Amino acid sequence: MTDLDEAIAAVRADVSALHAELVRYGLVVWTGGNVSGRVRVGEDRSTDLFVIKPSGVSYDDLAPENMILCDLDGTVVPGTPGSDRSPSSDTAAHAYVYRNMPDVGGVVHTHSPYAVAWAARGEEIPCVITGMADEFGGPIPVGPFAIIGDDSIGRGIVETLTGHRSRAVLMQNHGPFTIGVSAKDAVKAAVMCEDAARTVHFARQGGELIPIPQEKIDALYNRYQNVYGQSTDARR
Ligand SMILES: [Zn+2]
Repeated sequence: MTDLDEAIAAVRADVSALHAELVRYGLVVWTGGNVSGRVRVGEDRSTDLFVIKPSGVSYDDLAPENMILCDLDGTVVPGTPGSDRSPSSDTAAHAYVYRNMPDVGGVVHTHSPYAVAWAARGEEIPCVITGMADEFGGPIPVGPFAIIGDDSIGRGIVETLTGHRSRAVLMQNHGPFTIGVSAKDAVKAAVMCEDAARTVHFARQGGELIPIPQEKIDALYNRYQNVYGQSTDARR
């Protein structure tokens, strides 16, 4: 096996297994939701591909060999395992993110219910709990309304998250997309995004939310990301 074959096999196994986390945390129904992971090898990292879930396959039937290998245009690499199926209908959005955000190693999309409820109102999730400050470094922002079928979802994700601390964006009237340094990191962001959406929703039912001062948010974020064993490397 070449280095590339090994890298692809590892990402196939990783992405396939990570889909179980979406089910475990109640983020998906039926065949909805998708995880992808980047495959980048070569001295100049010139080979740049990603592995994504097939479209319309039951979560119980997902396996490394039916994950689909695509290039960064979102085109299926012919003759590879799984290439007889269609990739996830969100493949163009994932591809756009990888093309335009070179540090992203994984992308996740779900319709997790509490996050979608915030997206349906077009309302960002305010940073009112320390766990959100740790994980997202501020509010979870809303991205533009965009229809599937061209680059508009991907463009909305990239425009909203570029230069933003949050690894999650709530695409308006649609739902969360998350990014990470790895597929696992993006899955963690999806789990934490739904947790924040649910908790802040509950909090608001009982009364007014108390904002956390920006300097406290900054301190929490910096400590968690840089000191508390959560450096970029630890999330790979
Ligand atoms: Zn969707």
